[in-house]
Amino acid sequence: MQFLSDNAAAVHPRVWAAMQAADAPDAPYDGDALSRELDARFSALFGRDCAVLWVATGTAANCLALATLCPPHGGVVCHREAHIEVDEAGAPGFYLHGAKLMLAEGAKGSGGAKLTPEAIRAVIDPIRDDVHQVQPHAISVTQASEYGRAYRPAELAAIGALAAERGLGLHVDGARFGNAVAFLGCTPAEAVGPAQALSFGMVKNGGMSAEAIVFFDPALADVARYRRKRAGHLQSKGRYLAAQVLAMLEGDLWLDNARAANAAAAEIGTACGARLMHPVEANEVFVRLTSDEREALRAHGFGFYDWGADAARFVAAWNTREDDALALARAIAAL
Ligand SMILES: *Cc1c(COP(=O)(O)O)cnc(C)c1O
Repeated sequence: MQFLSDNAAAVHPRVWAAMQAADAPDAPYDGDALSRELDARFSALFGRDCAVLWVATGTAANCLALATLCPPHGGVVCHREAHIEVDEAGAPGFYLHGAKLMLAEGAKGSGGAKLTPEAIRAVIDPIRDDVHQVQPHAISVTQASEYGRAYRPAELAAIGALAAERGLGLHVDGARFGNAVAFLGCTPAEAVGPAQALSFGMVKNGGMSAEAIVFFDPALADVARYRRKRAGHLQSKGRYLAAQVLAMLEGDLWLDNARAANAAAAEIGTACGARLMHPVEANEVFVRLTSDEREALRAHGFGFYDWGADAARFVAAWNTREDDALALARAIAAL
């Protein structure tokens, strides 16, 4: 009973089928019919002009997106616990040629690694407009956040207003964007707010090896296209990546998968009572558990990661079985 992570989950059968259907020969790189469909499909989804590039990893999506918003001598404001800071092995510095991540504290208390305008101002206001100091060029937020919290449209609007006022770009790391949209029950456009670029995660939500970078300013995509090739991310059989992305969009599979994962996580969260560290708004559940309690759960056959010395993280996926989620909920409640 696997709750390690949503990328431990299987590839959705409709994604496999779409890759098989892409077996017919077509133009290489992103010149194939499927890749050329992406802009129109995402433009329809977001109700505005989008230019879309596939890449194989979320790290590449984040960094190629940010590289269009921030020069090598600039800075990107993000939460101290953002994936780009904590889990990308310095890739932002590599792709952005030395640009600096400027770390914000986020909301006080159990803010769930979400940024606020106040937290961003606390980082950028003390910076002098002076050649000796790195100037901020962009803000990056994670939707849903690293603790499975969703930014409300009004919160994104407020961050976007600050970004516009200070001339900063806005990027959304949407590794779990589907889970956020499913929770918020709003449109994808509302869940991304006034961002210029979104890393639209597919792999954790039923895809295999394709993430979509959605640029809401199509001119940025034309820069990113060259950077993607230069970074070795322009796959020559790109139609198989495009096929995955299109399969995820078809019939809103991305949303159905995210809803299923969220429902399983909610089931687990409800059983956790006061052990719960963050409200469950997406598909991740953070739970206070001693090492003995974690051992007991593992002995029952549950797989999950420790979260520090006194906690654990459980992640539900699109194919988490209801019985498994219920069994875990009961096992935690029984501790
Ligand atoms: C998983 C994840 C990513 C992408 O990670 P890759 O391993 O590079 O695909 C990006 N951001 C967040 C918040 C994630 O959880």
